[in-house]
Amino acid sequence: MKNKTENAILKFNGGNLALLCSDCSVIMKVGYEFNEEEKKFAKGEIDNLVPLFCQKCINKNKNKNK
Ligand SMILES: [Zn+2]
Repeated sequence: MKNKTENAILKFNGGNLALLCSDCSVIMKVGYEFNEEEKKFAKGEIDNLVPLFCQKCINKNKNKNK
């Protein structure tokens, strides 16, 4: 079983599905921008989706590993 924090975060935003940054929860993508994998994840056809991180969190984590 994968840890929940290692999964992508899906949320309803004003009636539309949105994918959030798995770190700071900023909206990364909305429903019409989803790729096939993300659509499947939204429909519950797959359980795991690689988490998304915004540029800010990517930079933050880079600095942490320095
Ligand atoms: Zn972020």
